[in-house]
Amino acid sequence: TNNKTSVTYDAQDLWQKDRNHFIHPFTDFSLFHEKGCDLITNSEGIYVEDVRGNRFIDGIAGLWCVNVGHGRAEIGQAMADQATRMAYFSTFNNLSNAPATELAAKLAELAPSHLNHVFYSCGGSTANDATIRLVHYYFNRLGKPTKKHILSRNNAYHGTTYMAASLTGIASNNWEFDTLDHLVTHLSEANCYRRPEAMTEAEYCDHLVDELESAIERIGSDNIAAFIAEPIMGAGGVLMAPQGYHARMQAVCRANHILYIADEVVTGFGRLGHFFASEAVFDTQPDIINVAKGLSSGYAPLGATLISDELYAVLSTPQGLGGVLSTGFTYSGHPVSCAAALKNIEIIEREGICENVRDVGPYLERKLKTLAVHETVGDIRGSHFMMAIENVADKTTKELLPVEARVGDRVAAEAQKRGLIIRPVGHLSIISPPLIWSRQVVDEVVAILDEAFAATTLSLKADGYL
Ligand code: PLP
Repeated sequence: TNNKTSVTYDAQDLWQKDRNHFIHPFTDFSLFHEKGCDLITNSEGIYVEDVRGNRFIDGIAGLWCVNVGHGRAEIGQAMADQATRMAYFSTFNNLSNAPATELAAKLAELAPSHLNHVFYSCGGSTANDATIRLVHYYFNRLGKPTKKHILSRNNAYHGTTYMAASLTGIASNNWEFDTLDHLVTHLSEANCYRRPEAMTEAEYCDHLVDELESAIERIGSDNIAAFIAEPIMGAGGVLMAPQGYHARMQAVCRANHILYIADEVVTGFGRLGHFFASEAVFDTQPDIINVAKGLSSGYAPLGATLISDELYAVLSTPQGLGGVLSTGFTYSGHPVSCAAALKNIEIIEREGICENVRDVGPYLERKLKTLAVHETVGDIRGSHFMMAIENVADKTTKELLPVEARVGDRVAAEAQKRGLIIRPVGHLSIISPPLIWSRQVVDEVVAILDEAFAATTLSLKADGYL
């Protein structure tokens, strides 16, 4: 099914050029200058291959995004067909293209029933940025220009364009970077594992809802435009909220005329077993849902903001004669990206990929929990195909290992030696695979992780960290 042309690369030449010229995102240059990068050059299904021909199981779906798996010739073909038919034309000023139009209608069909309008962007960060501009514009149009503040949460990840980085609440992500603090207030993250010890999960939920209510009282609902939240925080550590948290937070927002924005960049398109998790899993009806990543399974850059009928009614009313909604990108609704997304959605539906996640996901959760026997494994959490393992120095006190122990890097390196790529984030090991893993693959992965955690414990002991 796959007519890939094979290419041979000069590994050393590429490594050198990369090290000399490519400024990599989120890269520790103290290590990069010395080690450079691993070049991934081929992929197929659940596997990727590096430039030297080593094959790995992809445990992170590229970057939480290759939901239908790698090397899908039919997505490549749909993109090639569109690129040769009509690669690009403007979507500004009443122009459109067929894939963007078809995809908007398809997204409206798949999304919760009140979300029927789509604003396109180039990825998750730009989706969030565009959303905040639209939200501000919405309240200006309603004659409520003071409603500008956005409530976000510590450890949230919403991207790295200026506004998205300001919404992001992972402190280390913004070290020495500036943020738009006058527009954003960060509430506490919802993290059951590290909740205050004396609280039950239900009390913890009350506590977080109380905090939202106090923030609204302090800032004033007349000054707050929206609350933004990932249903499960991803890059912040796959943090699990207490039962009922999202629905209660939304109820408080609604009572105060504060819009509720769900950032489903990771949780959307099947990762939790549904196209959208907000309503199906968390019982919320967001005013806006943002998606990217799995929308095109990473085959082409694309983001989308799904907007309610109520908001659209205001956004689509001209400000005056000749007034236009003057925001958008050259590549809003890019035909090739939208063609990739349409084929991607067709595959998710045709192959029952959401059903696979609902079946194999709980199995993955169960099997990963067997890793709790390892000395550093403090918490195994997440849902379906969105999982993390938190490494600690002491399971009882939950004390972390020192940063210089680089425990996440150690586990990832040990897994990679054994043919599995997972993602180290500080002391966490993140597993967010393509959604086509079978139970058999899960068994293979957990066997590799078992060895990787055992080897990590030994190396930490040898270096005096345990
Ligand atoms: N929102 C969430 C929840 C994300 O996880 C990410 C990326 O990881 C983004 C937004 C930013 O998306 P992008 O990197 O496509 O700009």
